[in-house]
Amino acid sequence: MIQKESTTSPKTKASPWWQRIPLTLQILIALVAAVSVGIALGAGNPNPSNATLINNLAIPAELVLKALRALATPLILVAVLHTLMTTNIPGTAGRRLAVLLLTNTTVAILVGLLVANVLRPGTWGNVATSTTTEITTQSVDPWGIVKDAVPEAVLKPLVDNNVIQLIVIALSFGIVLRALKSEQIAQGKKGYQPIEDVIGILFEAVVRVLNWVIALVPLAVFGIVAKTVAMQGFAPFKSLGAFIVSVLLALLLQACYYLTRVKFGSWVHPLKFLVGGSDAFLTAFSTSSSAAAMPVTFEVLQTKVGLRESSAALGALVGANFNNDGTALYEAMSALYISQLIGQHLSLGQQLIVILTSIFASVGAANIPNAGLVTMTLVFTSVGLPTQYIALLVTVDWFLDRCRTAINVMGDMTVSALLDGKKPHSVDEA
Ligand code: ASP
Repeated sequence: MIQKESTTSPKTKASPWWQRIPLTLQILIALVAAVSVGIALGAGNPNPSNATLINNLAIPAELVLKALRALATPLILVAVLHTLMTTNIPGTAGRRLAVLLLTNTTVAILVGLLVANVLRPGTWGNVATSTTTEITTQSVDPWGIVKDAVPEAVLKPLVDNNVIQLIVIALSFGIVLRALKSEQIAQGKKGYQPIEDVIGILFEAVVRVLNWVIALVPLAVFGIVAKTVAMQGFAPFKSLGAFIVSVLLALLLQACYYLTRVKFGSWVHPLKFLVGGSDAFLTAFSTSSSAAAMPVTFEVLQTKVGLRESSAALGALVGANFNNDGTALYEAMSALYISQLIGQHLSLGQQLIVILTSIFASVGAANIPNAGLVTMTLVFTSVGLPTQYIALLVTVDWFLDRCRTAINVMGDMTVSALLDGKKPHSVDEA
């Protein structure tokens, strides 16, 4: 759970016993209980007299999704402001870093969309579309996206859940606050400090509220799985299995892309990169948090891979805040998967919007467990996909989050290796 990785949560009193059961175990228990209840309630042939009970089972998942949607915009806003105000980014290397981050994230999303378009996991089983689902088809005008990027009012993107506008606002204010901070430091002033503190506290506050929501995920999983099994049997899970396989394949392809870039763009041997980085990958996998893995990543890049401290710091400490390729890949694939599942075709133009919003959503996804699930609501909204289907993805997120976090960390390490250049440490310094 997020609070385990949070460094600032004071441990004042012992947590209740159920909070001491790891979240993954809680979800697994919920899954087993849900399947049993779903079978008892009909496994695809529900008794009409149980209809109200079965429908009400979805209420926790609906509430959790609503809360995630509501938290997505403040999370992105404060995460971007916080990163821009507190990290140290040198000029030229910063520009190189930005280009590398953008290229890697775009490749990740294209890999994800390619795999999802070829394997079409959403067609491997069918899900009865809920009658309450509102399917909106949106025609896409690329210039419209550009024109729409500037909001009519500063707080409007927060209300509309518009991720592109939100990032424009967050980046504008973040860049200005950052500049003001350095000007004040140069003049020996400290006026920026209260603002930086407030942003830090707000960030922590959003993450803590998010913790409460995440604590309810096992209940949401129980309800949605029990309802799905009761109403539709196991057919939807066939496609969910296909989705897991597709995501794993896409993440593997992305890992191959990183190794190829490392081989041709840096002095590091890909095998050394893999073996040296294994501690960081494992930490990322076991904590589902690239922030928790950050110190390990920084350390192994220097001691086991042999990079210069400056390149390790830029990729693993600075880039990591903006760079979430695994998350971007996952968000794009999820949108396509759900569109296939409910038979709502996403045109090429709409997939372009998915690419753009996934890039922005992944930039804003804080490096904590389940953050990708939160910002995914914005990607869905941008192409008119019904967000209630994210509930289905909640059931597998505990596992896929671990895998995409490991790829997020591998992406940061790749950026560090590329920034380190083609000459190893010793040759350069000789
Ligand atoms: N857990 C991921 C990370 O920490 C973010 C996500 O949920 O995709 O990098």
